[in-house]
Amino acid sequence: MKKELRSLVKEFAGVLANSEEDDFFIAAAKEENAAAVSSKQEVKPPQAAPAPAKSAESVLSAQNNAQTLKEDSSMPAPQTPKTKKINSNKEAELNALAEQILTCKKCPLGETRLNAVPGEGNADAKLMFIGEGPGFDEDHQGRPFIGRAGTLLTKMIEAMGLKREEVFIANMVKCHPMTDPSNPEKHGNDRAPSKEEIAYCRKYIEAQIALIQPEFIVALGGVAAKSLIKDADSLGALRNKVHTLELDNFDLEGKTKIVATYHPAALLRNPNWKKDAWADLQMVMKEMGLKSPQKPI
Ligand code: SF4
Repeated sequence: MKKELRSLVKEFAGVLANSEEDDFFIAAAKEENAAAVSSKQEVKPPQAAPAPAKSAESVLSAQNNAQTLKEDSSMPAPQTPKTKKINSNKEAELNALAEQILTCKKCPLGETRLNAVPGEGNADAKLMFIGEGPGFDEDHQGRPFIGRAGTLLTKMIEAMGLKREEVFIANMVKCHPMTDPSNPEKHGNDRAPSKEEIAYCRKYIEAQIALIQPEFIVALGGVAAKSLIKDADSLGALRNKVHTLELDNFDLEGKTKIVATYHPAALLRNPNWKKDAWADLQMVMKEMGLKSPQKPI
């Protein structure tokens, strides 16, 4: 009995420690506001980023996406001419794309996943967060960035003065890469997607970006950053800079910028990196004209 009690106390202490650890971004946002108030600077309420300039001929239709994706059956993904089409109904097209993803078996990850995870959020998002791939919780629930890393990502978003539902969250690959694909019920079974798996899945994330046309993307972790930013060799070399995003299959006309930062799972393992991640997010906030929230979240 004593042994069980000790174990429960230990577990509860762990939960408390994690909770404090996850509050870094909220505390950093509050600290920044306190400094702003004390220096008598005006602090404006949270505001949405200015709407990006939209081109009348910039996004692929879901029908064309379906056609393009059907043709993409070899590895790596063939280079096709960059596409520009009129975007008539983003949300419906994103939903149609999600339907394709949910039944996709183009690569071996599709055979072992429990649920494909297309991504979720606002079709008109000015800001997208892109990670590497679903993990255990995401595979079980079919949603991106849930569990501890997802909770931390939500706090990062809120520290930027936004709500999770205002942004779009997705991954480079839509199915769970596992070290032991025969056992999706095993914890600690995650691995990074391979280059080949990313090549198979690439057109889905590219189509999502092309439909949403965000003003900014935050690439979470080295895998997403190196896959999306062409001149990349390491996450360290990519951080602290605003890059212009270029896609293989769609022409964004230089309108979408991208920054790289640490993956929330890496921040949970290395809390000392949180201040650097916050600096990356502040860079995005400055570029987008976002302010940290005045009230505690
Ligand atoms: S990872 Fe992507 S390409 Fe592979 S099966 Fe899943 S959705 Fe299809």
